[in-house]
Amino acid sequence: MCSAHTPAAYRPTGTADEAEEARPGGRRAATDESGRSRRLEYPPAPEPLPVPVVDNHTHLNFRDGLVEVGVKDALDAAAAVGVDRAVQVGCDLPSSRFTVQALDADARLLGAVALHPNDAPRYAARGELEAAYAEIEQLAAHPRVRAIGETGLDYFRSKGDALAVQHDSFRWHIDLAKRLGKTLQIHDRDAHEDVVRLLGEEGAPETVVFHCFSGDEDLARTCNENGWFMSFAGTMTFKNAENLRRALAIADPGRILVETDSPYLTPHPYRGRPNASYMVPYTVRSMAEVLGADLAELCSRLSANTEQAYGDWD
Ligand SMILES: [Zn+2]
Repeated sequence: MCSAHTPAAYRPTGTADEAEEARPGGRRAATDESGRSRRLEYPPAPEPLPVPVVDNHTHLNFRDGLVEVGVKDALDAAAAVGVDRAVQVGCDLPSSRFTVQALDADARLLGAVALHPNDAPRYAARGELEAAYAEIEQLAAHPRVRAIGETGLDYFRSKGDALAVQHDSFRWHIDLAKRLGKTLQIHDRDAHEDVVRLLGEEGAPETVVFHCFSGDEDLARTCNENGWFMSFAGTMTFKNAENLRRALAIADPGRILVETDSPYLTPHPYRGRPNASYMVPYTVRSMAEVLGADLAELCSRLSANTEQAYGDWD
């Protein structure tokens, strides 16, 4: 394959894409967090990895870019560069329902379902939180839903009254993971201390993943001590992310994972462009550089760690 090009499924066809939003979750904003407009072309595919790895956190339901890309095409494009499997993550009821349908349709997917810390307060405000919990619990019983997530705390986007709902919701999801014997996949934005505190108060499930690890060396040490997985996203490649690279450098090698959080968090040098699972190799190569590791060995390690975190894909 020619790796200098964007995968075919991600290239605009020239005709206007007027398809109805087929997928739940809406789309990533056309501006970044500081309000600047983004380039909406998907970046070129990286060189394939020598050993396949897993994107352990993606949102195939979220739309971004100039074309609509289906689940199969997205996973085919990823497989072509050595990203042979993925974990599809739900954040609310529509995307969690989508998750179960998607993993039934494609054996390369496992799933995670939950109410995201920024979504739980919306259900609560409508008086629908208990009903939403009941449906998440039902969806979570699916044998290929292996994680409860993403759940956790977000002090960046949510403020005030929403925080009490977030805390209750995080506690509910921790309990659900333990009752069902599933992995807990944590969203932690500007809330490291309280995330660790609530895990301690509730008693952490056997397997915990910090999705898009955003901590420093202190949090990495806490994860090492507790045997919690740290999943590194494109953020660790950003120029100003020296703290993340220092955390990676001291992380227990048996507890590191890789993810995209696509369509968000596109790795350097394509920050701000749309993201997809086929972009994982950029992050893995950057991790190998930080760790001074052989690329193939790191890939094998990441794959083995992912199966330890979620079970095998059968
Ligand atoms: Zn996510």
